[in-house]
Amino acid sequence: MNEKPNNNIQKSLGALLIGLVLLIAFNALILPVITADPVKPTDYSFFLEQVEDGNVSKVEITDSLITFTTDDNKFYSTVRIDDPDLVERLREDGNIEFTGVSVDQNPMRNFLFAWVLPIIFMVVIWNLIFKLLGKHMGGLGNAMSFGKSNAKVYVKAQTGKTFDDVAGQDEAKEALKEIVDFLHSPEKYAEIGADLPKGALLVGPPGTGKTLLAQAVAGEAEVPFFSISGSEFVEMFVGMGAAKVRDLFSQASEKAPCIVFIDEIDTIGKKRDGQINSNDEREQTLNQLLTEMDGFDGKKGVVILAATNRPESLDPALLRPGRFDRRIPVELPDLAGREAILGVHGKKVKLAEGIDFNAIGRATAGASGAELANIINEAALRAVRNGRTAVDQSDLEESVEVVIAGYQRKNAVISQKEKEIIAYHEIGHALVAAMQKDSAPVHKITIIPRTSGALGYTMQIDEGEKFLMTKEEAFARLATLTGGRSAEELIFNTCTSGASNDIEKATKLARAMVTRYGMSENFDMIALETVNNQYLGGDPSLACSSVTAAEIDAEVRNIVKSAHSEAIRILTENIEKLHELAHYLLEKETITGEEFMAILKPEKSFA
Ligand code: ADP
Ligand code: MG
Ligand code: ZN
Repeated sequence: MNEKPNNNIQKSLGALLIGLVLLIAFNALILPVITADPVKPTDYSFFLEQVEDGNVSKVEITDSLITFTTDDNKFYSTVRIDDPDLVERLREDGNIEFTGVSVDQNPMRNFLFAWVLPIIFMVVIWNLIFKLLGKHMGGLGNAMSFGKSNAKVYVKAQTGKTFDDVAGQDEAKEALKEIVDFLHSPEKYAEIGADLPKGALLVGPPGTGKTLLAQAVAGEAEVPFFSISGSEFVEMFVGMGAAKVRDLFSQASEKAPCIVFIDEIDTIGKKRDGQINSNDEREQTLNQLLTEMDGFDGKKGVVILAATNRPESLDPALLRPGRFDRRIPVELPDLAGREAILGVHGKKVKLAEGIDFNAIGRATAGASGAELANIINEAALRAVRNGRTAVDQSDLEESVEVVIAGYQRKNAVISQKEKEIIAYHEIGHALVAAMQKDSAPVHKITIIPRTSGALGYTMQIDEGEKFLMTKEEAFARLATLTGGRSAEELIFNTCTSGASNDIEKATKLARAMVTRYGMSENFDMIALETVNNQYLGGDPSLACSSVTAAEIDAEVRNIVKSAHSEAIRILTENIEKLHELAHYLLEKETITGEEFMAILKPEKSFA
C-alpha cells in the first residue's frame, strides 16, 4: 500500500484529535489517582493534638494545605489556617522535620509528565491500532480518507476474465476489442490520424454481461483497470463525490494507458433537470465528471467505459461526442447466444452424456445471461439433491421451470374439485394453442403448484428463434391466453380467480397491439405510447389525448373479446377432446407435448 501524502496528513490529524481527547480524560481522571498519596484529610484541631502529643515526624506546608506524617507512618492533610504560632509549636517539639513547599515545584518536569509524554504515548498507540486495523479490515482507513476514490485497480491476473468467458455478445466484443487493440498499439492509430473514442457506454438489460464484459476487457488489455461503481461517488456531504472523481482521474492519468470503468453510471449521470428536489451532490459530481472527461488528452490512452441499464435517463451532456460517444448495446441473447452461454457455464459443472443445450436454449427465450448461469447452477444443486454425480437433461429442464415459476410445492393440499378446475383450465390453454396454426407447439402441461403461486401452467416452445410477431400470431396468443378461462366457463359454468395472470398478460399484449405495433385498423400507424425504461421492463406511458385514450380502451376491449369468443368456439368444437385430455392430466399431473398430441390427433402420431 503506497499512501499518498495528503492521506498521511489526514491520518495524523485524526490521530492528534483522538490523542487530545484521551489526554484530557487522562489528566482529569487518571493522573490524580496515580500520583496522589493515600492522604487522609482531617481537621486542624487533630493536627494540633498530634503535634502536642509528639506523634508527628514530618510536616509540609504549602500556601493552602498542611500535610503531615505521624510516627506510625500515616499521611494526613488539613486546610491551613492562618496560625502565627504554628512554626513556634513545631519547633517546640524538636523532632519534627518541617518545610514549606511551593506548589509549582518544578514546572518543567510537571509539564513534561502531564502533557508531552502522554501525547507521545497516545500517538504511538494510535499508530499501532491504525496499523493493526488497517491490516485486518482496511475499512477504517477508508473511513478516514474523505474524498479519495476507492476504485479498485485490476490488472490481468486479478479479474481472471477474458473474452472467452463472455459467450454470445459478438458485436459488443468486436467493439471492445478495438479499444483493447488501441491500448496495445496506439501508434497504429496515431499514424493514420484516427482518434479513438474517449468513452464507450455499455447499455442493456440487467444480467446481460455488461460488468462481465468490462472485466474481460481488463483481462485482455493488460493495462491497469480502475473499476468503480457509480453509487460509490454518492456521498453524504456535498463535494465529496466531485473530489472522488478528481482523484480517480488524477490516478488514471498517472497510470495511462489504462481503463476506467464506471458501473451503473446512471446513479451519477442522471439528467440535470433543475427540479426543486434536485440533488446538489449528484450534480456537482456529474459536473466534475464532465470536466474531467474534457480535460484529458484522448491520445494519452485513458479509455473510459461505463455501464447502465437506463440510458434514456442519462444527461445529454454525457453522451455528446468527445465523451461517451460510442454506445455498445448488450442485448438479451438470442438462441445461439443462449446456447453458447449455457455451454460456457456448463463447463463449470459435471455434465452427463448427451446434454442438449439447444432444447434448453429454446425453452428460455428472453432469459438473460445471469438467469442462464443460474439455471445451470440450479441444475447442479438438483443433481446433488437427487444423489447423482453429474447433471442430466431432466435437471436442466426442471431448473428452467424453477427459474420461470419457482419450486414445486409438493405438500400443497388442493381439493379434488379445484384440481379438476385447474386441469380443465390448463388443457383449455393447450387445446386453443394446438388448434390454431399461428401458435407455438405445446411442450409441457402441468398442474403441480409452484412457489411463485402458479397452480399449473402450459409451456409452449417455438421451433426456432422468433424475432417478429405477426398480427395473426399476436391474435392466436391472445386466444390461447383466454383459453383457460374459456374452459372454466364452458365446463363449470362459472369463472375463478385463477385467470388473473392470463388477464394481465392478454391486456398488455392487446394494448401493445393497438398503441405500439399499429395492429388495429382504427389507429393505423400511430404511436400512442412510449416505453420508458425499455431495459428494465418499464411501463409505457400514454402519449395522446384523453379522448383517444378512451378509444384505445374500447379497441383493446374489442380485441380481447373477439379472442375470447374465438377460444370459446375452438373449445366448443373440441369439447370431447377437452374432457379426455383434462382427465388424463388430472391423473398424470404432468404431461408432455407428445402425450398431448397423441390424444389430440391419434391418427397423426401413428403416421
Ligand atoms: P450486468 O449486465 O447486469 O452487469 P453481469 O455482467 O453482472 O450483468 O452478469 C452477471 C452474471 O451473468 C455474470 O457473472 C455471468 O456469470 C453471467 N453472464 C451474463 N452474460 C453472460 C454472457 N454473455 N456469457 C457468460 N456469462 C454471462
Ligand atoms: Mg452490472
Ligand atoms: Zn391460465
